Amino acid sequence: MDIKRRNLLQGVAATAALPLIPAVAKAAVATGGKRKTLIKGGYVASVDKAIGEIPVGDVLIDGNTIVQVGANIHATDAEIVNAAGKLVMPGFIDTHRHTWSTTLRGMIPDGDFPIYMKVIDEERGTHYRPDDVYAGDLLGGVSAINDGITTILDWSHIMNTPAHADGAISGLTDSGVRAVFSPGIPITPIDLNTPDYVERIQKQYFTSKDQLLTLGMSVRSADAKTFDGCVADMKFARKLGIPITMHVGVTTAKIRGITKLNDLGLLGSDVTYVHPTGISDEEFKMIASTNGTLSCAPMAEMMSQGSFPNVQQWLSFGLRPSLSSDNETRLPSDMFNLIRALLMSDRGQEIARAGKEGRRSNLLPLREALSFATLDGAHTLGLDKKIGSLTPGKRADIVIMDMSDIQLIPVNGDPVATGLLQGRPSDVSWVFVDGKVKKRNGQLVGIDMKRVRSVVKSSQDYLTKRAAEEEQKKK
Ligand SMILES: [Zn+2]
Repeated sequence: MDIKRRNLLQGVAATAALPLIPAVAKAAVATGGKRKTLIKGGYVASVDKAIGEIPVGDVLIDGNTIVQVGANIHATDAEIVNAAGKLVMPGFIDTHRHTWSTTLRGMIPDGDFPIYMKVIDEERGTHYRPDDVYAGDLLGGVSAINDGITTILDWSHIMNTPAHADGAISGLTDSGVRAVFSPGIPITPIDLNTPDYVERIQKQYFTSKDQLLTLGMSVRSADAKTFDGCVADMKFARKLGIPITMHVGVTTAKIRGITKLNDLGLLGSDVTYVHPTGISDEEFKMIASTNGTLSCAPMAEMMSQGSFPNVQQWLSFGLRPSLSSDNETRLPSDMFNLIRALLMSDRGQEIARAGKEGRRSNLLPLREALSFATLDGAHTLGLDKKIGSLTPGKRADIVIMDMSDIQLIPVNGDPVATGLLQGRPSDVSWVFVDGKVKKRNGQLVGIDMKRVRSVVKSSQDYLTKRAAEEEQKKK
């Protein structure tokens, strides 16, 4: 793709003695929030109902903000990104990712939930140092950007010591991803039941709500063993005024944990329910009536709970899910895989129901999944005024997909269908986060990849060595 830097030097052109601005300085101008970028001639899927989809459309960015979306936009003072034949979408949003464990990627390919708990949480997680959390969050954040995921909620239950929070925050910051850092219960039996460190990091790192990194809290589950802890965590998060994310699913459903929290008046619009399966209709009504939000990790729900996301059920209660990856120790984390897993789970169940009832099936539309992966994700994180759609006034978190690869041609129907059903992370050619270019023509930019690889390697080496030492002790 060609980029034409138009009139960048117009203001100084008359001063012939001035040297040309070197590449580094150009980048500095671009990240200074003063320069405009015009994404030109792409298939624009805005996910904004008022704007809709524009088959040949443009998006104008000024600094970190989208200022115009439409056809034939002219801007003489903008860098042009030629998006002809490409798909332009809002950046994807992953609303629940245990980012710390990214360095344990693919470790338990055939593991069920007990194996996950034993190998990942106990055998590896207990040995995590702040440096290892840094490595996991750096790798996870950079990988997300590479995949077109511009925002993640980092469900960080690796707070072995308060300093682990600093490691995670540094990793996320260095990766350049937009994130809601949500620390929570540690894996090790260190007593962090009064998580005062969250108050400390709030004062230290999160003084403004208008920054790339914001704060939330991952609370303990409303399950038999942790119910009191859940209540304490929720009260603590509310004292700090930060959003709450909570695992639910079959174990919570077993003790009617959501009903109990509802009886205590603790449900609210600041709560995200992760793995919303196995819950009764009454409890879904409680979540809906308190404006709670859902995060569905379709593959994790199948692999950990043997339950299949039923989107049509949620929609019938007025609840629109967001999508999440959970972890990469036995699952992929890119949004293409997540969208397909969710669609196929829901559609398979509907086809089975329709067959039993002797009627035609009513399949969940693909466009709904695009909304779950973007705008509904933003709503889940309480960021829908800022991100989630290509809307003037929102922050420029944008993905451009190259549609020319052999597995994507020819486009029949429209690029959204082909892109989401056949696309791969490698087709994500451009990524903007907060108006800054993070991936350009298929290459990550502004990140020292050699350093990322080296940080990951040394953490992996350390954790492998520690696990072997523990193994040796047992013998
Ligand atoms: Zn989880």
